[in-house]
Amino acid sequence: MKQIVIDKPHSINVEDTYKPQPPNSEVLVKPRFGGICGTDIHIYEGNFIGTYPVTPCHEFSGEVIEVGSSVSNVKIGDKVIVDPNVRCHQCDACRTGRLNICENFSAVGVTRPGGFSELVCVPESNVYKFENCSFEAAAFGEPLACVLYGQSKINYMPGQKVIIWGAGAIGLLHLMACKNIYGCNDITIVDLEHKNLDTAIKAGASHTVIADDNLEAKLSEINNGKFDIAIDATGNSNAVHTLFKHLARGGQALLFGVYDQKAELKLSPFDIFINDWEIKGSLTYNHDFYSAVKALDNELIKPEILIGLKISLDETPNIIRKIADGERMGKVQVKIN
Ligand SMILES: [Zn+2]
Ligand SMILES: [Zn+2]
Repeated sequence: MKQIVIDKPHSINVEDTYKPQPPNSEVLVKPRFGGICGTDIHIYEGNFIGTYPVTPCHEFSGEVIEVGSSVSNVKIGDKVIVDPNVRCHQCDACRTGRLNICENFSAVGVTRPGGFSELVCVPESNVYKFENCSFEAAAFGEPLACVLYGQSKINYMPGQKVIIWGAGAIGLLHLMACKNIYGCNDITIVDLEHKNLDTAIKAGASHTVIADDNLEAKLSEINNGKFDIAIDATGNSNAVHTLFKHLARGGQALLFGVYDQKAELKLSPFDIFINDWEIKGSLTYNHDFYSAVKALDNELIKPEILIGLKISLDETPNIIRKIADGERMGKVQVKIN
């Protein structure tokens, strides 16, 4: 069978290997669609916690084609979304219900073989069945779970004005969650690219603003330039500085990007005090995978419009190299089988 292998940083290829055999408590999945994510690029570039060699892809859907001897809740033929994060359930974090900060986690596509492979073994407890939605939509299970965890930290009140910084796949999933799950009807979204903002309009944005030199002037024309809920999905600390300039009193800020580890935020503690701001971080997800699967399968969230490019497994190494070189192509999805 064919799989993508990153054997060391900056070295990625398609390789032929033997079919894996599922251990007792695992299932053998035939991946159908998998998304390329920033984490895959970080693993390729050698600046993430990946172990090498590794087959990337932690965002995928597929079909179960074999089950281990002790597997009881999943059967051959089930359509599944894989939760890539394998938590230990033994550490202090796990035992206090905070699975996302597990001290001994492993992850499909990061520290164990992932979805860019014709076949992959995953623990039974990490697959979630779905029935109605497309395999393409189902491949958004992991990023949507991350988004729903971040969203669960926001205290929504009717009529609040939301601004989302960044209209990439993650920013747009936030937009869909704000609108379709939490019922927000005043959502502004900011991005550098017109194409992303066009997709944001299709996804239900009320106002779109291009991030050029006139950004702040344009924002001041919307809701007097102040927003109750601000979500950063850019990972850019300059954007975060601008975000706080436009956060209303009593506002909530969700910092959702993966920031440069050396970046610093210049923020007045007095402003946090006098404005009664709440500032929240968000790392992966806790018990949110189930909700993500339900939101996709019930078509509350229809993420297919976020796909910028569909490619084959054979094209994947080249596309990952190009993205690492800075080429922008929107969310890329790989048709694996
Ligand atoms: Zn991801
Ligand atoms: Zn743990």
